[in-house]
Amino acid sequence: MYKNFAEVKSALASGRRVVDILEDYLKRIESKKQLNAFLEVFSESARQRAKEVDAKIADGTAGRLAGMIIGIKDNICYKNHKVSASSKILENFESLYTATALQRLIDEDAVIIGRLNCDEFAMGSSNENSAFGNVLNPLNEDCVPGGSSGGSAAAVAANLCTVALGSDTGGSIRQPASFTGTYGIKPTYGRISRYGLIAYASSFDQIGAFANDLEDTALVTEIMAGADEMDSTSSREEVTDYTPVLPAGKLKIAYIKECLEIGVNAHIKEAFLKLIEELKADGHEVTEVSFPYLDYMVPMYYVLTTAEASSNLSRFDGVHYGYRSPNAQGTEETYKKSRSEGFGAEVKRRIMTGTFVLSHGYYDAYYSKAQKVRRVLQEKTNEILAQADFIISPASPNVAFKRGAISEPIEMYLQDIYTVHANLTGHPAIAIPHGQKIDGLPFAVQLMGKFFKEKELFDYSKLLEKYIQ
Ligand code: GLN
Repeated sequence: MYKNFAEVKSALASGRRVVDILEDYLKRIESKKQLNAFLEVFSESARQRAKEVDAKIADGTAGRLAGMIIGIKDNICYKNHKVSASSKILENFESLYTATALQRLIDEDAVIIGRLNCDEFAMGSSNENSAFGNVLNPLNEDCVPGGSSGGSAAAVAANLCTVALGSDTGGSIRQPASFTGTYGIKPTYGRISRYGLIAYASSFDQIGAFANDLEDTALVTEIMAGADEMDSTSSREEVTDYTPVLPAGKLKIAYIKECLEIGVNAHIKEAFLKLIEELKADGHEVTEVSFPYLDYMVPMYYVLTTAEASSNLSRFDGVHYGYRSPNAQGTEETYKKSRSEGFGAEVKRRIMTGTFVLSHGYYDAYYSKAQKVRRVLQEKTNEILAQADFIISPASPNVAFKRGAISEPIEMYLQDIYTVHANLTGHPAIAIPHGQKIDGLPFAVQLMGKFFKEKELFDYSKLLEKYIQ
């Protein structure tokens, strides 16, 4: 069992080959099948790839990720491999090309071991919306692993792969990271190409990494980052060396007062306030700011993301891709039945909500208004970040909950209260595990940084680790 890339590298240094390391991981996946983290293990292509990487190591031409075994969320395209977004509507669909972010990891000789379960089309906070069954939290199998990248988080927490890729539209990397005691980052919007990521809400979506330590999170983020001509929203901002280094000097940290006034778990709140006190005691400047927009964030997020989703998901019509109803006759009925039978309940709810907020007569009241508030939110956040290095908060108001415990959609949506902020504004944010546990369940601290300052965010995280681990 390898906890991180450092352990893989030391195994390589002591004579194990990538093919051996891959077999170790494959065995471990087999022994943890009940978690339902993997929808498919790419044993054949991974074994082939591992052999090639061993040959490159032997002749000294291997890339920076030689020996790293990566799992990918089932909404990231990998040529000639299936991808379904955990939806029946895409069952058995095969990718025609590889996502740019993934290609960059393969180019550095990572081996891709399989695709990981998630909420259907990345919509959910508990992985209970997958068409292929829920995922168990490896730390307590009665609990959910979080969502929507629940399989990715569970796989990393259970050491079924060294690193996993996820996507984060409203917290789908950071909340499951928090629930499983792993690291998870949502980079700045535009930092990593979205080419080859199945779209949920295109102005929010970002690919990001899960890992068991900060170094691996930083390394993989650095390799995936950078401009891509296939994604016009990807940024040309330079990518530097992201290796975390302890920052010199004292930090300026802001936290939002209102964040602690909502229904946050009492232990999480206590641990958070203790952290603030310790940071202050060490001479860091920690400022409480009032930010009276918290109540608007989740509603704003659900107006805008459902609008984008209703448009993005219109392509799944039973004609172009995947599932086609065998019970339909004629074009109209093919569309209707394929979509009715192919999509799950939550996805349908969002498509309908999105269609509603975009409809004539309601567009101005909902969609336009939410866009305007989004702009205000971004400006106000930048004002805080002009005075502070980063904004700190818990990553999630709760620890992992029991399967089936939350059935009300609104209650589920409120799980994202701390995470949607960074997607609404585009800022980068990272979840780093708190060393403490509540009844054996982990939780995390979230750091939200300035645009494209991922490097600084990793450095600050390194400092924060000293306080909480
Ligand atoms: N839980 C949120 C949602 O259901 C976030 C999802 C995500 O980030 N993909 O929309």
